[in-house]
Amino acid sequence: MSEKHISSAVIKRLPRYYRYLGDLLENEVVRISSKELSERMNVTASQIRQDLNNFGGFGQQGYGYNVEHLYKEIAKILGLENEHSVIIIGVGNLGQAIANYHDFKKRGFVLSGLFDVNPDIIGKVVNGVTVKHTDELAEFIKENDIDIAAITVPKEKAPKIALEVSNLGVKAIWNFAPTDLKLPDSVIVENVHLADSLMRVSYSINARNKSKKDD
Ligand code: NAD
Repeated sequence: MSEKHISSAVIKRLPRYYRYLGDLLENEVVRISSKELSERMNVTASQIRQDLNNFGGFGQQGYGYNVEHLYKEIAKILGLENEHSVIIIGVGNLGQAIANYHDFKKRGFVLSGLFDVNPDIIGKVVNGVTVKHTDELAEFIKENDIDIAAITVPKEKAPKIALEVSNLGVKAIWNFAPTDLKLPDSVIVENVHLADSLMRVSYSINARNKSKKDD
């Protein structure tokens, strides 16, 4: 199953299924039909069936999906059954907000270290973790098996620090700095840009205003 190529569009939709199924579980829903799931998620039932068939289905004709089973299977696919250690580099506004977001821990992302260069921030405790100087990064990464480094430093500092931690053996970079990073192929890079999302909102407002004018 793991050898099969799964399109990135499907992978993109999986966290959303996972979130909805998690909510259903919290509400003690035992099973759900693809029709019901589709109505809740505003995705067509055939899209849901197609997506989940990539992983062998999990549904049963006339029964629908067992919520807990599907939730666990998607967790496996997303690699969420194992914990992931995360460090954050740049503990300013965004770095602190991420460090304080408790839902990540619920999903198995463990905040292992915080790093900055500002003496006013070093030594501060955020969500139980003391901020260290970036001079300590090499030793810290050597001693702790770090999966993910969140990069929340100013844009111009990001390429150097991202390359440094990649060379130190971090498996993935979760990049928030608005810049493209050139890193070895062995390192996974996920860029997160809230401004891009906001611009899509702007586009939709614009398009709606235009169509109202044309009516
Ligand atoms: P900030 O100034 O509050 O925080 C930046 C922190 O990085 C500071 O604490 C600073 O001391 C530290 N820093 C500077 N150089 C460093 C280095 N070489 N090593 C380690 N730490 C270093 O800024 P912010 O508002 O938190 O934004 C941080 C970054 O995130 C910026 O690049 C910003 O553009 C970006 N950002 C991205 C999004 C997004 O949606 N992707 C949203 C907001 C901000």
